[in-house]
Order: sequence, then structure tokens, then C-alpha cells
Amino acid sequence: MGSVEAEVDGTPSLPVVVKLLLTRCGMKKTGDGPLHRLPRRPLRLSSLLAIILSLSACGTVAPRLPPPRQEAVSRSLRYHVTYVREPGHALEVEVGLDQPGEQEFLFTQPGGVKTVWAFRDPAAPPLALPVQGGSVRLPRGTHSLRYRYPLDEIIRERGPGFFTGMGRGDARYLAGKSWLLRPRVASPSRRVELWLEGANALLPWVPAPEGHYVLTAADLVDSGFHSFGGHRCQARLPGAVLDVAILAPMRHLGDAAVCDWLGRTAGQLLTVRRTFPYPRVAVHVVPVEGDRTPNLFGMLMWSTPPSISLLVGQEARPEALEADWAALHEMLHLLHPAFVPRTPWISEGLATYFTELARARSGRHPPERAWAELLRGFERGREQAAGRTLEEMIEEDAPPGIYWVGAYLALLLDVELRRATQHQRGLEDVLAFLAGRGATSTPAAYGAAVDAVAGRPFFEEWWARRLREPAFAGLEGLLEALGVTLTPGGIQLRPARDSLLRESLEARSASGPW
Ligand SMILES: [Zn+2]
Repeated sequence: MGSVEAEVDGTPSLPVVVKLLLTRCGMKKTGDGPLHRLPRRPLRLSSLLAIILSLSACGTVAPRLPPPRQEAVSRSLRYHVTYVREPGHALEVEVGLDQPGEQEFLFTQPGGVKTVWAFRDPAAPPLALPVQGGSVRLPRGTHSLRYRYPLDEIIRERGPGFFTGMGRGDARYLAGKSWLLRPRVASPSRRVELWLEGANALLPWVPAPEGHYVLTAADLVDSGFHSFGGHRCQARLPGAVLDVAILAPMRHLGDAAVCDWLGRTAGQLLTVRRTFPYPRVAVHVVPVEGDRTPNLFGMLMWSTPPSISLLVGQEARPEALEADWAALHEMLHLLHPAFVPRTPWISEGLATYFTELARARSGRHPPERAWAELLRGFERGREQAAGRTLEEMIEEDAPPGIYWVGAYLALLLDVELRRATQHQRGLEDVLAFLAGRGATSTPAAYGAAVDAVAGRPFFEEWWARRLREPAFAGLEGLLEALGVTLTPGGIQLRPARDSLLRESLEARSASGPW
């Protein structure tokens, strides 16, 4: 199942960014029918009749005719997607079906397409099928479908966003789940082939040598982020590559410098895991005109493999990007599975905690700075908690507190694990353990993994006790044990009962044999 991790650092807020993009997209007004292109070939009389019939029946415009290239039922669902520019940017989609019976298709993120056209017998007119709640029912005998996803129209009507899409010049970007119609029952054994034409696209998947994508229906449930057009660069890591789409050029960095920055950021994951968790990840960089803030917004989607989007101020200077945390935070989400149900105290807590550890371990920050950042965040979280219990704070599930209470819990668990294993194992071993057990996990499996790494059962009892306590209970005592002291001059790190343990947190540690 898919889920989304979203981050906001508060400057500026997403609505402000959205407004900025809205005024800068330069989009043209388009019509609101499902398909507006003229037929490619002369119309046959039967086709003309079909158009007239469908126009009078539902008041919408029929798709371009004659019927699609895919007329026979094949062994794959076959998508042919065309990126078109007139009258506005849009995706025109043909789907050749692999099964002839009645079936239901679905937009995982509904609302972008109102009508899907079903083709059956070549002599019969295409049927206009209404999309209701994102869902469309195909009658028996349907061999292919067509629809149009009006990209610019939707961005204009709803405002730019990570799901609805954004645009700069001729390039467009959006979430696949908004435009890709997929079977409601999305079996991993149902084969999908997808062809794209009209623009250089970046999708989460690597194309086959012939240029198309060979997928399964399960890959379409959360199909990540998609870019059409824009610039491309690549960052190489040991055993992995980042394929990067840049929607518009950055003002003070060339494309190669953007990839260098992302490559160095991704390299910091190797202070937490021995190898990069995926052989290839797609990253979409969306520069926001007139803004110099490096980290405006970031999001990871659980496509297979996951994909990442970053809103970056187009005016950001190289040194500001080097000091940025948002790209690192998003990439650190690659180190844990998708938790079902969504459990931000685990997922956001882990990414927030390891952001500071990775920066210290890689030498990007001195350890004192990492502790200062953690303590500042814990203080923000404690202010938001206002004396409430951990359970109440988790129920509230509101940023930034949920991130920081999650980071505090990550620190507590890391310390417990290191105490239990004489500093030989830590929280990253829990993540390595889970990485070998599938792309999704549950809070219960997380607890079981903690017990497995600790070598004894303690999570359940620990968790039940913590839930009843104030959210940041025990912080001062923990810092004293670790030798972390806040002085008027800043953080001082001193010898203390657990200062060796603290040093093992700040140093690269060995991952377990999972
Ligand atoms: Zn996050």
C-alpha cells in the first residue's frame, strides 16, 4: 500500500509556494471536454455516426477515431500515453485490455478525469463511461479505453501541487496516481506494458531496452512522481544511481552541480546503512522562481521503488543547499519500510533523528551541532506537548511535535539497544532487519524487530509505560547520562556514565548480519 511522507519547514508555507507557482506557470485556458484532438485519419460514416450519437447522448466530445491500435485481447494491459501541448498540456491515454469480462478500473487519486471512453465491437460506437469516485465500470466486451488527463486545466483549477501537478515552460510534473487509471484489483501477477511519447519522461521505473516500461498492475497503485520534459542529470553512488529531473534551471547551479549536491546527500545514507537501499531512485527537483530558500518542501511516495520530490528555491546558493536538511530527510525515508497503517512517530521520528546523526557521522556537522539541533527540536516538541502524555501527542499527530517526539523515541530506543548489546547494535540494525522483510511493515513488526536486535523482549512493556508518561519524560536524565550539557556558550560533550555510548551514536556503526 502507498503512503506519503510530507515535510514543511514553515518558510514559506505550501499555499504560498502554490500561489507563486500558479502565477508563474503561464498556462493557457483549455476546453473542458474529455478529448479535443481531431481524428488522425478520415472518418468513416459509422465513426461519424458514433460521434453524433455520443454527443447527443451525453453532451461530451467523442475521442479521436478510428478506434485504438489495440483491438485484440493481449496477455498484457497495454498503455499508450501521449504528452500533448495543444490546446494545453495534457496526457492522452489509450489502454488495451488483457481481459474481456466486466471489470472495474480506478484512479487511485480521483478527480482529474470525468469520462473514460470504452471501445467494444469495431462497428459499435464508443461508450462514454462516467468516472464516479475515481472508479469506472467496464462492460463485457470492452477491448480498449481512452481518456485525456487535462494537466494544465487541472493545475489552473485546483492550483499546483505535488499530486495535481506543476509546470514550468514546456515541462510538467505530477503524481502518477492522479492520471494513471489502473485495475481496482491490482494483482502483482497482472502484466502491464506502458509506452510514452511526446516528451522525455522520468518515472520511478527503468525502461526496457525498447523504451517502454514493463510493470505489474500492483506498480500502478502508487506510481510515484512523473516528470515530462525539463532537464536531466544523474548522480552515481556505489551500487546505485539517482536519476534526477530538474523542472527548470537553477539560477546559481548548473544541472551537474544539482546532481553533485544530491549525490553527496545520498552518500550520507551510507553512514546509517552499508549500501544504498535501492539500485535506482528517481528524484524530481522543482525550482520555485524568486525564492532562495533551499528546502521549501519535500515528499517521498511509496512507488516501487520509492520516488522523491523536492521544492527548491530557484535562487538558492550552493552553500545554502550544502547546509540543507530536507533532501537528506527525504532520502533517509528510503531506509525504512512503508508503515501500514501510517505511523509518523516511527517514520518521521526515524528520518528526523537520523538526519542529525548522519550529518555528524559524515562530518557535515560537529557532534555538538547535531545535539544542539536535536535539543532545539525536542524543546519545540515539548512546547507543543504542553505536559500531555505521549499517547495524547501521538493521537494529535500534528507537526512539528510529532516529528520531534518521534525523534526522541528513536533516541531512547537507540540508547536501549546499545545498552542491551554493549554498544554492538543500534537502531539502524532494526532498519536493516526490516529491510530484509519486505517493502511494507507494521508498528507491531517494528517492535518485534527492536526485540530481535536487542536479543530480548522489551518493546511491548517499554511502549505501554511510555504511552502513559509525559511525552518527553526522562529527557534531562538521559542527557546527563550521555554527557550532553547545554551551557550558555552552547552544547558541551563531557565524559559521563554513557558517554562511550554517545560516541557510538555519533560514529559510523556496523550494521548487523541481517
Ligand atoms: Zn519525513
